[in-house]
Amino acid sequence: MKAAVIGSPISHSLSPLIFSFISKKEMFQLNYQAKEVNEKETSEFFEEIKNQDNFLGCNVTLPLKEIFIDKLDFTSPEVAALGALNVLHVKQQQVHGYNTDIIGIKKTFEAAKFSIKNKSCLLLGAGGSAKAIAYVLGNEGAANVIIFNRSERSHDLVAKFQKLFPNTNWKSVNSINDVQAKLDLIINTTPLGMTGKDPGRDFFQSLKSLSFNSPALGFDLIYTPEHTEFLKLCESLGLTTVGGLGMLIDQALATWKIWIGPLKNENRLHEELHNFLTGILWLRQNDSAIYLTGFMGVGKSTVGTELASILKRDFIDTDALIQKAAGLSIPEIFSKKGESYFREVEHSQINSLSKNSKNSIVSLGGGALMNPLSLSEVKKSGMLIYLSADARNILERINTQKEERPLLANLSTDKQLIKITELLAARKNVYEQAMVEINTDKKDVSDICFAIISAIGIWQQKDNS
Ligand code: NDP
Repeated sequence: MKAAVIGSPISHSLSPLIFSFISKKEMFQLNYQAKEVNEKETSEFFEEIKNQDNFLGCNVTLPLKEIFIDKLDFTSPEVAALGALNVLHVKQQQVHGYNTDIIGIKKTFEAAKFSIKNKSCLLLGAGGSAKAIAYVLGNEGAANVIIFNRSERSHDLVAKFQKLFPNTNWKSVNSINDVQAKLDLIINTTPLGMTGKDPGRDFFQSLKSLSFNSPALGFDLIYTPEHTEFLKLCESLGLTTVGGLGMLIDQALATWKIWIGPLKNENRLHEELHNFLTGILWLRQNDSAIYLTGFMGVGKSTVGTELASILKRDFIDTDALIQKAAGLSIPEIFSKKGESYFREVEHSQINSLSKNSKNSIVSLGGGALMNPLSLSEVKKSGMLIYLSADARNILERINTQKEERPLLANLSTDKQLIKITELLAARKNVYEQAMVEINTDKKDVSDICFAIISAIGIWQQKDNS
């Protein structure tokens, strides 16, 4: 089956990674692509997807969220009310439109155990996502909703929602000083505080004049960084807080359910995606090298190449560097110059790499870190990941790869297993100095890459707590 995310620009979209992760966990073959589509191309694109075999639909992002509505065969009540969609579902040559932002927002409140009914809420911003938030606040029976915006745009929003949800008292303000109500909820839908954007410190400081009931909730739609300036300020005011990553995940899970059906274990998948995306987002902003260590044959090069492609980083194989520096193949270095020469060249390559390894994935030779200097240089210059495997699986993989392995040359299979077991025991302490161990037995390459990224996400969350 096929699906896509469309919009312009689209190259930074997280959706291909999210859907590739979900497909893997759900064991469902989904070919999901990011496709650059601009406003002028939408009619042609719409006809194309309607008639395509095995095409489930699209996630729709800026600037296309309001464009397809008139062409749809079915429109969900949320899309009709908001005039914006983010999911197209193609079904028997008909196209249905949904807005899973709404589901992501509702789920965020549910997870925070926050009931909107009869509450006083302040919404910062009046753009696309503020509309979806306002819909949820009105739909769930908020008593008061104040929409703050730096421009007049909030007035239109208030007029629209006052008609849609007349039981809620809607008000528009252009200055925080005009907010008099005691609040139960404050939501940031402006880009202030997002990585790479205006940090908005002065604006957030002005929120200190607001008064809140206890308990009250602060919700920031931003998910990069996960712990935003807005959330820090809310914490300092004694509010419970929630960031935007859960909403992003719930939108994607809701899309999956529209296209494909129920998920096997939604709560577990939510948690797994949270770890995975925390890892991805952290790695997009931090260029420390990822070093892969482990015994020969565990798949460091294959995994490293795939990981580099997922993370859009360079892949470096220290064995290739050694062969280049020595002008000989690895078996030739061992036979002509001996293991100690090999280890010398290996250390000098790791030493220079450790000074210049940013933004790369490095596959280390199986015995490289037995040199304590190399171990310390690697640990100082990046994240060390240990790919482990059972000795028998290592033997099986080595023998199917048919690559010449000098340390196991001229040994019978039984003796190779003994040698692997001995070497693993001798290297165990060194391998275990890695930040994390990923067992590779019975896993394919993408399972291992996802496990590495998720482990980095978990490590990052522990580091922040
Ligand atoms: P829009 O551009 O539609 O709206 C942005 C709003 O913020 C507008 O009201 C705008 O005001 C206001 N704003 C922009 N810059 C400033 C500033 N410097 N000072 C004060 N106000 C400002 O964006 P979206 O609603 O689509 O997205 C907003 C944020 O929500 C983004 O950071 C996005 O990443 C995040 N988001 C998160 C999602 C999730 O799943 N977690 C989903 C969707 C969005 P004006 O009208 O005057 O221009």
